[in-house]
Amino acid sequence: MKKGRFQCKDIPALFILKWMWTNRARGLVRCTWFQQSTPDLPSLRDLLPVELFPDKLVLAKMGNLIRRGLVSGCVCGCRGDFTLTDAGISILQRTGWLAKSLLRPLLYLTPSSPAPSPDPAS
Ligand SMILES: [Zn+2]
Repeated sequence: MKKGRFQCKDIPALFILKWMWTNRARGLVRCTWFQQSTPDLPSLRDLLPVELFPDKLVLAKMGNLIRRGLVSGCVCGCRGDFTLTDAGISILQRTGWLAKSLLRPLLYLTPSSPAPSPDPAS
């Protein structure tokens, strides 16, 4: 944050990558740079409030992720077509978040084991 304004570094890369993965898990591989998401094309613009994160800033962040090879797409202001790259996915794998997010649906199906109750006698 500088003079009350957000900077690129204030937008965590993982925040964007996780969002992109969540879309991808729903079969939506790309996200765009439209003002409004559509059912089959989520918009990055909808992810961050424009009052706090102006277009220029979010596109700069995406440019940063593209340079780091984590995302592919275009930041010229066109529709963007941002896509997670293998490198972006492997970052999520390394944080362990991806494994947890993949397991989550399974966790709902398994009956939860009773919480171990502390034994006051011991
Ligand atoms: Zn472009």
